[in-house]
Amino acid sequence: MKNRELHLHIDGSLRVDTVSQLIKEQRLDLDLPKEQLRELMKVPSNCKNLNDYLKRFELPLKVLQNCEAIERVSYELIMDLSKLGMNYSEVRFAPQLSTLKGCTQEQVLRASIQGIKKAEKELGNFKAGLIICMMRGDDNEIQNKESIYLAKKYFGDTVCALDIAGAEAIYPTRNFEELLKEAKKMELPLTVHAGEAGVKEDLEVAIKVNADRIGHGILSIKHDDIIKQLIEKGITLEVCVSSNLQTRVVSSFQEHPVRQLFDKGVKLVISSDNMTVSDTNIINEFEILKKYLNFTEHELNIIRKITYDASFIK
Ligand SMILES: [Zn+2]
Repeated sequence: MKNRELHLHIDGSLRVDTVSQLIKEQRLDLDLPKEQLRELMKVPSNCKNLNDYLKRFELPLKVLQNCEAIERVSYELIMDLSKLGMNYSEVRFAPQLSTLKGCTQEQVLRASIQGIKKAEKELGNFKAGLIICMMRGDDNEIQNKESIYLAKKYFGDTVCALDIAGAEAIYPTRNFEELLKEAKKMELPLTVHAGEAGVKEDLEVAIKVNADRIGHGILSIKHDDIIKQLIEKGITLEVCVSSNLQTRVVSSFQEHPVRQLFDKGVKLVISSDNMTVSDTNIINEFEILKKYLNFTEHELNIIRKITYDASFIK
Protein backbone atom coordinates (compact mmCIF):
# COMPACT_ATOMS: atom_id res chain seq x y z
CA MET A 1 0.00 0.00 0.00
CA LYS A 2 1.40 3.37 -1.02
CA ASN A 3 1.84 6.28 1.37
CA ARG A 4 -0.44 9.29 1.14
CA GLU A 5 -0.18 12.78 2.57
CA LEU A 6 -3.49 14.08 3.87
CA HIS A 7 -2.18 17.04 5.90
CA LEU A 8 0.31 19.03 3.88
CA HIS A 9 0.51 22.80 3.48
CA ILE A 10 1.58 23.99 0.04
CA ASP A 11 3.18 27.21 1.35
CA GLY A 12 5.20 25.23 3.90
CA SER A 13 6.51 22.83 1.27
CA LEU A 14 8.14 25.09 -1.34
CA ARG A 15 11.42 24.28 -3.08
CA VAL A 16 14.17 26.67 -1.97
CA ASP A 17 15.39 26.97 -5.58
CA THR A 18 11.94 28.05 -6.68
CA VAL A 19 11.66 30.68 -3.95
CA SER A 20 15.07 32.01 -4.97
CA GLN A 21 13.94 32.26 -8.61
CA LEU A 22 10.59 33.82 -7.72
CA ILE A 23 12.34 36.49 -5.66
CA LYS A 24 14.43 37.41 -8.72
CA GLU A 25 11.50 37.25 -11.15
CA GLN A 26 9.30 39.37 -8.93
CA ARG A 27 12.19 41.74 -8.14
CA LEU A 28 11.60 41.46 -4.43
CA ASP A 29 14.08 43.06 -2.10
CA LEU A 30 15.04 39.69 -0.61
CA ASP A 31 17.81 38.46 -2.82
CA LEU A 32 19.76 36.29 -0.38
CA PRO A 33 22.04 33.30 -0.93
CA LYS A 34 20.10 30.02 -1.10
CA GLU A 35 21.55 28.82 2.19
CA GLN A 36 20.13 31.85 3.96
CA LEU A 37 16.78 31.48 2.22
CA ARG A 38 16.67 27.88 3.34
CA GLU A 39 17.28 28.98 6.95
CA LEU A 40 14.41 31.45 6.69
CA MET A 41 12.09 28.74 5.37
CA LYS A 42 13.00 26.05 7.90
CA VAL A 43 12.00 25.93 11.52
CA PRO A 44 14.87 27.05 13.79
CA SER A 45 16.23 24.52 16.26
CA ASN A 46 15.24 26.84 19.11
CA CYS A 47 11.64 27.22 17.94
CA LYS A 48 9.54 28.11 20.99
CA ASN A 49 5.95 27.40 19.97
CA LEU A 50 3.39 27.28 17.16
CA ASN A 51 3.40 31.07 16.76
CA ASP A 52 7.17 30.98 16.31
CA TYR A 53 6.80 28.12 13.81
CA LEU A 54 4.22 30.07 11.82
CA LYS A 55 6.79 32.87 11.27
CA ARG A 56 8.51 30.55 8.75
CA PHE A 57 5.61 31.20 6.38
CA GLU A 58 6.40 34.90 6.01
CA LEU A 59 8.93 34.48 3.21
CA PRO A 60 6.91 31.89 1.25
CA LEU A 61 3.86 34.15 1.41
CA LYS A 62 5.84 37.09 0.03
CA VAL A 63 6.52 35.20 -3.20
CA LEU A 64 3.02 33.76 -3.37
CA GLN A 65 1.23 37.06 -4.09
CA ASN A 66 1.17 36.16 -7.75
CA CYS A 67 -0.99 33.68 -9.63
CA GLU A 68 1.80 32.31 -11.80
CA ALA A 69 3.84 31.56 -8.69
CA ILE A 70 0.84 29.80 -7.08
CA GLU A 71 0.38 27.64 -10.16
CA ARG A 72 4.08 26.80 -10.23
CA VAL A 73 4.42 25.77 -6.59
CA SER A 74 1.20 23.74 -6.70
CA TYR A 75 2.51 21.89 -9.75
CA GLU A 76 5.94 21.34 -8.20
CA LEU A 77 4.56 19.99 -4.94
CA ILE A 78 2.55 17.28 -6.71
CA MET A 79 5.64 16.38 -8.75
CA ASP A 80 7.67 16.17 -5.53
CA LEU A 81 5.07 13.94 -3.86
CA SER A 82 5.09 11.66 -6.87
CA LYS A 83 8.88 11.39 -6.62
CA LEU A 84 8.41 10.20 -3.04
CA GLY A 85 6.40 7.26 -4.38
CA MET A 86 2.86 8.49 -3.84
CA ASN A 87 -0.03 8.42 -6.28
CA TYR A 88 -2.62 10.24 -4.19
CA SER A 89 -2.38 13.14 -1.75
CA GLU A 90 -4.31 16.07 -0.43
CA VAL A 91 -2.58 19.44 -0.25
CA ARG A 92 -3.90 22.62 1.29
CA PHE A 93 -3.43 26.37 1.49
CA ALA A 94 -5.33 29.56 2.26
CA PRO A 95 -6.09 31.48 -0.96
CA GLN A 96 -6.98 34.55 1.12
CA LEU A 97 -3.33 34.94 2.14
CA SER A 98 -2.27 35.49 -1.48
CA THR A 99 -4.49 38.49 -2.21
CA LEU A 100 -2.19 41.30 -1.02
CA LYS A 101 -1.14 42.39 -4.51
CA GLY A 102 -4.45 42.38 -6.30
CA CYS A 103 -5.20 38.72 -7.04
CA THR A 104 -8.69 37.68 -5.95
CA GLN A 105 -9.16 34.54 -3.89
CA GLU A 106 -10.84 32.93 -6.86
CA GLN A 107 -7.92 33.71 -9.20
CA VAL A 108 -5.51 32.33 -6.63
CA LEU A 109 -7.56 29.18 -6.20
CA ARG A 110 -7.89 28.65 -9.93
CA ALA A 111 -4.13 29.05 -10.34
CA SER A 112 -3.50 26.34 -7.78
CA ILE A 113 -6.06 24.02 -9.38
CA GLN A 114 -4.42 24.60 -12.74
CA GLY A 115 -0.96 23.76 -11.38
CA ILE A 116 -2.24 20.59 -9.75
CA LYS A 117 -4.05 19.49 -12.89
CA LYS A 118 -0.95 20.13 -15.00
CA ALA A 119 1.04 17.83 -12.72
CA GLU A 120 -1.69 15.18 -12.74
CA LYS A 121 -1.80 15.28 -16.52
CA GLU A 122 1.96 14.97 -16.84
CA LEU A 123 2.19 12.15 -14.32
CA GLY A 124 -0.84 10.25 -15.53
CA ASN A 125 -1.11 8.18 -12.36
CA PHE A 126 -1.53 10.76 -9.61
CA LYS A 127 -4.75 12.07 -8.09
CA ALA A 128 -4.62 15.13 -5.86
CA GLY A 129 -7.20 16.85 -3.73
CA LEU A 130 -7.03 20.49 -2.72
CA ILE A 131 -8.23 21.56 0.72
CA ILE A 132 -9.04 25.25 1.10
CA CYS A 133 -7.92 26.69 4.43
CA MET A 134 -9.87 29.41 6.13
CA MET A 135 -7.73 31.41 8.55
CA ARG A 136 -8.07 32.10 12.24
CA GLY A 137 -8.12 35.85 12.78
CA ASP A 138 -10.34 38.66 14.03
CA ASP A 139 -10.82 40.76 10.91
CA ASN A 140 -11.26 38.28 8.06
CA GLU A 141 -14.77 36.92 8.36
CA ILE A 142 -15.63 38.12 4.85
CA GLN A 143 -12.55 36.38 3.44
CA ASN A 144 -13.42 33.17 5.30
CA LYS A 145 -16.98 33.29 3.97
CA GLU A 146 -15.61 33.72 0.48
CA SER A 147 -13.40 30.64 1.05
CA ILE A 148 -16.52 28.62 1.92
CA TYR A 149 -18.31 29.91 -1.17
CA LEU A 150 -15.32 29.02 -3.37
CA ALA A 151 -14.95 25.59 -1.80
CA LYS A 152 -18.56 24.90 -2.71
CA LYS A 153 -18.19 26.34 -6.21
CA TYR A 154 -15.09 24.31 -7.04
CA PHE A 155 -15.92 21.22 -5.01
CA GLY A 156 -15.23 18.17 -7.15
CA ASP A 157 -12.90 20.17 -9.40
CA THR A 158 -9.74 19.26 -7.45
CA VAL A 159 -11.17 20.97 -4.33
CA CYS A 160 -12.16 18.25 -1.87
CA ALA A 161 -12.65 19.92 1.53
CA LEU A 162 -12.41 22.95 3.76
CA ASP A 163 -10.12 23.54 6.76
CA ILE A 164 -9.31 26.26 9.26
CA ALA A 165 -5.68 26.98 10.09
CA GLY A 166 -3.65 29.55 12.01
CA ALA A 167 -2.82 30.43 15.59
CA GLU A 168 -5.14 28.32 17.72
CA ALA A 169 -3.88 29.69 21.04
CA ILE A 170 -4.67 33.26 19.99
CA TYR A 171 -7.95 32.67 18.13
CA PRO A 172 -9.93 29.85 19.75
CA THR A 173 -11.99 27.53 17.54
CA ARG A 174 -15.23 28.66 19.20
CA ASN A 175 -14.85 32.03 17.40
CA PHE A 176 -15.35 30.15 14.12
CA GLU A 177 -18.09 27.76 15.15
CA GLU A 178 -20.76 29.45 13.03
CA LEU A 179 -18.49 29.48 9.95
CA LEU A 180 -17.68 25.81 10.38
CA LYS A 181 -21.35 24.98 10.82
CA GLU A 182 -22.15 26.91 7.67
CA ALA A 183 -19.56 24.89 5.74
CA LYS A 184 -21.07 21.64 7.00
CA LYS A 185 -24.56 22.84 6.12
CA MET A 186 -23.29 23.21 2.55
CA GLU A 187 -22.23 19.56 2.75
CA LEU A 188 -18.55 20.32 2.42
CA PRO A 189 -16.16 17.76 3.89
CA LEU A 190 -14.43 19.41 6.82
CA THR A 191 -11.12 19.11 8.61
CA VAL A 192 -10.26 21.45 11.48
CA HIS A 193 -6.85 22.27 12.94
CA ALA A 194 -7.55 21.76 16.66
CA GLY A 195 -5.95 20.32 19.76
CA GLU A 196 -2.43 21.18 18.70
CA ALA A 197 -1.50 24.34 20.61
CA GLY A 198 -4.99 24.99 21.93
CA VAL A 199 -7.15 23.66 24.75
CA LYS A 200 -9.81 20.96 25.21
CA GLU A 201 -12.57 23.31 24.10
CA ASP A 202 -11.02 23.55 20.60
CA LEU A 203 -11.48 19.82 20.20
CA GLU A 204 -15.00 19.98 21.60
CA VAL A 205 -15.97 22.59 19.01
CA ALA A 206 -14.39 20.57 16.17
CA ILE A 207 -16.41 17.53 17.26
CA LYS A 208 -19.57 19.58 17.73
CA VAL A 209 -19.46 20.96 14.18
CA ASN A 210 -19.05 17.41 12.86
CA ALA A 211 -15.56 17.73 11.43
CA ASP A 212 -14.72 14.64 9.39
CA ARG A 213 -11.09 14.93 10.39
CA ILE A 214 -9.08 16.95 12.90
CA GLY A 215 -5.65 18.41 12.10
CA HIS A 216 -3.30 17.25 14.89
CA GLY A 217 -5.83 16.74 17.71
CA ILE A 218 -3.18 15.14 19.88
CA LEU A 219 -4.32 16.99 22.98
CA SER A 220 -7.19 14.47 23.02
CA ILE A 221 -4.89 12.00 24.78
CA LYS A 222 -5.44 13.97 27.99
CA HIS A 223 -9.23 13.66 27.86
CA ASP A 224 -10.95 10.27 27.91
CA ASP A 225 -14.32 11.78 27.01
CA ILE A 226 -12.84 13.30 23.84
CA ILE A 227 -11.18 9.99 22.90
CA LYS A 228 -14.53 8.26 23.34
CA GLN A 229 -16.27 10.73 21.04
CA LEU A 230 -13.54 10.52 18.38
CA ILE A 231 -13.93 6.75 18.29
CA GLU A 232 -17.74 6.78 18.38
CA LYS A 233 -17.99 9.36 15.60
CA GLY A 234 -15.16 7.84 13.56
CA ILE A 235 -13.26 11.12 13.36
CA THR A 236 -9.73 10.73 11.98
CA LEU A 237 -6.78 12.63 13.46
CA GLU A 238 -4.14 13.92 11.04
CA VAL A 239 -1.00 13.46 13.13
CA CYS A 240 2.25 15.29 12.24
CA VAL A 241 4.92 14.05 14.62
CA SER A 242 7.96 16.17 13.60
CA SER A 243 5.88 19.32 13.45
CA ASN A 244 4.54 18.69 16.98
CA LEU A 245 8.06 18.32 18.31
CA GLN A 246 9.15 21.54 16.61
CA THR A 247 6.23 23.54 17.97
CA ARG A 248 7.05 22.11 21.43
CA VAL A 249 3.65 20.47 21.83
CA VAL A 250 5.66 17.37 22.77
CA SER A 251 9.20 17.31 24.12
CA SER A 252 10.54 14.20 22.35
CA PHE A 253 9.51 11.70 19.67
CA GLN A 254 9.28 9.02 22.35
CA GLU A 255 6.75 11.05 24.30
CA HIS A 256 4.52 11.73 21.32
CA PRO A 257 0.98 10.46 22.09
CA VAL A 258 0.53 8.89 18.64
CA ARG A 259 1.42 5.49 20.12
CA GLN A 260 -1.20 5.73 22.88
CA LEU A 261 -3.84 7.17 20.55
CA PHE A 262 -3.29 4.32 18.12
CA ASP A 263 -3.41 1.72 20.90
CA LYS A 264 -6.67 3.19 22.22
CA GLY A 265 -8.22 2.71 18.79
CA VAL A 266 -8.41 6.31 17.60
CA LYS A 267 -8.35 6.48 13.81
CA LEU A 268 -5.27 8.40 12.75
CA VAL A 269 -3.13 9.15 9.72
CA ILE A 270 0.46 10.34 9.57
CA SER A 271 1.49 13.43 7.63
CA SER A 272 4.36 15.90 7.22
CA ASP A 273 2.42 19.14 7.81
CA ASN A 274 5.13 21.13 5.96
CA MET A 275 7.93 19.45 4.07
CA THR A 276 10.18 22.53 3.92
CA VAL A 277 9.35 24.27 7.19
CA SER A 278 9.53 20.99 9.14
CA ASP A 279 12.32 19.61 6.95
CA THR A 280 10.66 16.22 6.61
CA ASN A 281 8.60 14.01 4.32
CA ILE A 282 6.18 11.10 4.64
CA ILE A 283 8.91 8.46 4.45
CA ASN A 284 10.78 10.13 7.28
CA GLU A 285 7.61 10.43 9.40
CA PHE A 286 6.93 6.69 9.08
CA GLU A 287 10.56 6.00 9.98
CA ILE A 288 10.13 8.05 13.17
CA LEU A 289 7.14 5.90 14.17
CA LYS A 290 9.21 2.76 13.69
CA LYS A 291 12.38 4.03 15.30
CA TYR A 292 11.10 5.96 18.31
CA LEU A 293 7.58 4.67 18.91
CA ASN A 294 7.94 0.94 18.18
CA PHE A 295 5.41 0.75 15.39
CA THR A 296 5.66 -2.50 13.47
CA GLU A 297 5.33 -2.70 9.69
CA HIS A 298 1.93 -4.35 10.24
CA GLU A 299 0.79 -1.35 12.33
CA LEU A 300 2.06 1.09 9.73
CA ASN A 301 0.00 -0.76 7.15
CA ILE A 302 -3.06 -0.36 9.36
CA ILE A 303 -2.37 3.40 9.36
CA ARG A 304 -2.00 3.33 5.56
CA LYS A 305 -5.37 1.58 5.31
CA ILE A 306 -6.98 4.19 7.59
CA THR A 307 -5.44 6.86 5.34
CA TYR A 308 -7.16 5.37 2.31
CA ASP A 309 -10.47 5.26 4.15
CA ALA A 310 -10.13 8.84 5.45
CA SER A 311 -9.17 10.34 2.08
CA PHE A 312 -11.70 12.89 0.86
CA ILE A 313 -11.64 11.66 -2.73
CA LYS A 314 -12.82 8.06 -2.93
ZN1 LIG B 1 -1.28 22.05 9.51
